[in-house]
Amino acid sequence: MMVKPATVKISSVALKHNIQVIRQKAPHSKIIAVVKANAYGHGVLFVASAVEKLVDCFGVARLEEALSLRSQGITKPILLLEGFFSEQYLPIIAVNNIQTVVHNKEQLLALQQAELPNKIKVWLKIDTGMHRLGVALEQVDEFYQQLQNCPNVESDIGFISHFSRADETDCDYTQKQLEAFLQVTKDKKGERSIAASGGILFWENAHLDWIRPGIIMYGVLPDNSATHTQGLIPVMTLTSSLIAIRDHKKGEPVGYGGIWISDKNTKIGVVAIGYGDGYPRNIPTGTPVYINGRFVPIVGRVSMDMLTVDLGTESEEKVGDEVILWGKELPIEELSKITGILTYELITKLTPRVLTEYID
Ligand SMILES: *Cc1c(COP(=O)(O)O)cnc(C)c1O
Repeated sequence: MMVKPATVKISSVALKHNIQVIRQKAPHSKIIAVVKANAYGHGVLFVASAVEKLVDCFGVARLEEALSLRSQGITKPILLLEGFFSEQYLPIIAVNNIQTVVHNKEQLLALQQAELPNKIKVWLKIDTGMHRLGVALEQVDEFYQQLQNCPNVESDIGFISHFSRADETDCDYTQKQLEAFLQVTKDKKGERSIAASGGILFWENAHLDWIRPGIIMYGVLPDNSATHTQGLIPVMTLTSSLIAIRDHKKGEPVGYGGIWISDKNTKIGVVAIGYGDGYPRNIPTGTPVYINGRFVPIVGRVSMDMLTVDLGTESEEKVGDEVILWGKELPIEELSKITGILTYELITKLTPRVLTEYID
C-alpha cells in the first residue's frame, strides 16, 4: 500500500507553452511575468527558472519576493508592482537591479532624498479608474517632472496602470481607462503598460509596450464564465489519494454534522485532502473530483485532512488510487463556477502542507 497525500504537480512544459500562447496574442509587447504570491502557488523559483529566458522582466508584490529570486540566481529585471514600503530599502533595490513602481508622494519624496550607489528604474503608476493605487490623472505631469529631475531615477521612466473590469468584455469601462491612460501619457517618452491577463485576452488595443500576465501564464482564466481555454494549458494539477474505501448503507450519514445521507447502499471513498491543505470547505455536495477516468461527487462536509466521495456500488477503486481535485481533467474554472470562489483564490490558498512535484 502506498498513499500519496495532497500534492500539486507542476508542468514546466505547460508553463512554456502558455508563454508562447501569450507571445502570439501580443506579439509586439514585452512580458513582465507576474510571479507574486509564490507564483500563484506554483513555486516561484521553479517558475522563474523555467521561464526566465522566455520573458523580459518579473513582477512581484514584495521586496522579499524579489530578493529571494536574486538569491537564487535570477538575473532578469524584477519590478515591485506596489513600489517599496520604506526608504531604507532603496539602496537594496538599487544594487539588486530591482525596478519600482511609484504611486504616491511618500515614495517620490523618499527617492528624492535618498543617497544611492546607482540610479533606479521607475514606473509611474497612474490611476485611470481602478481607484486603488496610483497618482490621479491631474497629478501625472507634476510627478513625471519631479521624477525626471530626480538624480536617483533612470531617465527612461515607464508608465503603468491597471484595469478594474478587463474581464467584462461588453463593458466600456476598460476602453475609458485605456483612453485616459493614452491621453495622459501622450507626448511623454517612456514605455507604457496597462494589460494584465484580462487585458491581454480581451483588449488587443491595450497591449502597448509591456504586458503583465499573471494567472494566464499558469493556464488559468481570469474569469470563470469564459467558455474556451484560449489555447492555454493548466500548469497545476491538484491531486491526492484514496486512503479508505468503505461500504456504506442506505440511510447512513457521512462526516461532521451528518449533512448528507445516502439514499442507497454504496461505497464511500475517503480522500487525503481537506481545508487544512487549502481545499475549500464551503463547497456544495456534488462538487466533482476525478478518479480513474470518471467524475464522482463529494458528499458530506470537507474536513481538515479528508473529504469523502460517493464511488457507487460498482466501484473498483483501490486504496492509493489517485484523485484529481483540479487540473486538465477537471478545470479549476469549473470548480470556481460551482463554488463561487475565484480561480485566483483557489490556487493561491493552498497551504505549505501540500507537497509539490515538478513533472516533465
Ligand atoms: C497581480 C498583478 C498582475 C497580474 O494579474 P493577472 O490578472 O493575474 O494577470 C498584473 N499587474 C499588477 C499590477 C498586479 O498586481
